[in-house]
Amino acid sequence: MYLSDAEAKERICSIGRKMYQKQFVAANDGNITIRVGENAVMMTPTGVSKGDLTPEMLIKADFGGNILEGTYEPTSEMPMHLRIYKEDDTIQSTAHAHPIFLCCFANMGAELDLSLTTATVAISGKIPVAPYCNPGSLELAESVAPYVKDFNVVMLANHGSISWGHSPDEAWYILEEAENYAKLAILQKYILREFRPISKPQIKKLADTHGLTINPKRLVNAPDTTNNTEQASSFAGRPIPGVTLDDATIERIAEAVARKLKS
Ligand SMILES: [Zn+2]
Repeated sequence: MYLSDAEAKERICSIGRKMYQKQFVAANDGNITIRVGENAVMMTPTGVSKGDLTPEMLIKADFGGNILEGTYEPTSEMPMHLRIYKEDDTIQSTAHAHPIFLCCFANMGAELDLSLTTATVAISGKIPVAPYCNPGSLELAESVAPYVKDFNVVMLANHGSISWGHSPDEAWYILEEAENYAKLAILQKYILREFRPISKPQIKKLADTHGLTINPKRLVNAPDTTNNTEQASSFAGRPIPGVTLDDATIERIAEAVARKLKS
């Protein structure tokens, strides 16, 4: 039912290395936990780079936060991780990091809900932002709790993101996919400024044919219709998105030019 302590330690070190290699964390950011018993969770220590974790650094604690094994100090975010397990007994692992593109949305206070790819609509779906709370606090732990049952990842305002799953791989994959989603969303909306969305009926068909249940709260902001079944057009032939000025800015420029000409 649960991973052994040794297996959990190995998985945490391996996920930590991926987290660091993917630049989801800087310095000693981020923490990972795996449930190892009815009342036991293995977790990362505070103050260590996730790229440098070794099994003997990891700490085993109970759901009351009491240390059962380990000589290092546990992560300061232990209350947030434990709160997620308390909210849903089926959760087996959590992963918290500060991935840059997700942080952009967390800093803007913008839910990630663009209807972009099959993976993004099906794996995380819409990603909400929990309101700002002091890192390491019980308030931060409580701010995440309302999202646990309906979502599998949440952004923490002005801080980072945390994901959870029914296995260590699932928790990690969700976070990895969420960061991809955030990266794509920024490129499509602000750099390319265009995309053909997946429609609501296409999302329904995707869920029906793949045996997925998409929680209505996680539905992305999809249109009723789309043009993504039409023939694709040439990329080379597309105009490069330029700078567009609103009327007020054009007027201000015209006035400045007029003043210059009069003087
Ligand atoms: Zn953090």
